[in-house]
Amino acid sequence: MKDLKYTSITDEMDCKRDKTEIKIGDIIVGKDFCVIAGPCSVEAQEQILKAALAVKKAGANILRGGAYKPRTSPYSFQGLGKVGLKYLYDAGKQAGLPIITEVVDTRDVYLVAEYADVLQIGARNAQNFSLLTEVGRAGKPVLLKRGMNSTIEEWLNCAEYILEQGNPKVILCERGIRTYETYTRNTLDLSAVAAVKNLSHLPVFVDPSHATGRREMIRPMSLSAIIAGCDGLEIEVHPDPKTALSDAEQQLLPGQFEALMEDVRMTLEFRDRLKK
Ligand code: PEP
Ligand code: MN
Repeated sequence: MKDLKYTSITDEMDCKRDKTEIKIGDIIVGKDFCVIAGPCSVEAQEQILKAALAVKKAGANILRGGAYKPRTSPYSFQGLGKVGLKYLYDAGKQAGLPIITEVVDTRDVYLVAEYADVLQIGARNAQNFSLLTEVGRAGKPVLLKRGMNSTIEEWLNCAEYILEQGNPKVILCERGIRTYETYTRNTLDLSAVAAVKNLSHLPVFVDPSHATGRREMIRPMSLSAIIAGCDGLEIEVHPDPKTALSDAEQQLLPGQFEALMEDVRMTLEFRDRLKK
């Protein structure tokens, strides 16, 4: 992978680069373990506020919520757009959490960047090169999902598009790839986490929600991802998942998320002991 100019762990002289560290809210991503949590979609002011307060109480570091939803069907809920951005922004302020939300269109990058602390590029747009260039120019931290059909090399090249614009604040996120398996929504490729940690200086997150599509698998996959070496997790949490307008099957209840956060802390302690 010698064409990786900016994302490679070594520079042109073959010297090891420092790990990328990105200050977001109270934490430094790449140094401190980071948990992003919140609903799949922002559906209503009360829903996102409830979610924000619950995930903050459980110890999450960043609030998520989609205002622009890239849906497989044009007839599914497409998100609240600008109104959703405002609800998410207010909920983040009230809970004391920075916010992340997806941007799906180059025309919305600067609007979304006015509200969001972190811009998310979703799996369906992972190789939308004009969008990658535009979020590179916007200068805000970017969480870049792996495309569902992207190889590790293709994924890192997507990150190159952002870094090439002079924006070094990129977080990679493994969210499962498409395989012949249909029981799970995607196949979580934890080997990619270990691979990318060796290839690149960028922080690597794991999204077990979209990777599995199954609520009961979020806990085991989150804990396994920590052992695989990830720098953070992105987990969908909804105050009442059965009423969710998108991804109802994979969103945790606040109580389940709180219990998971206990296990996350214990697993991180165990991982720290392994390193010593
Ligand atoms: C999301 O995180 O809201 C999302 C749509 O995920 P992905 O792009 O990984 O499918
Ligand atoms: Mn979702």
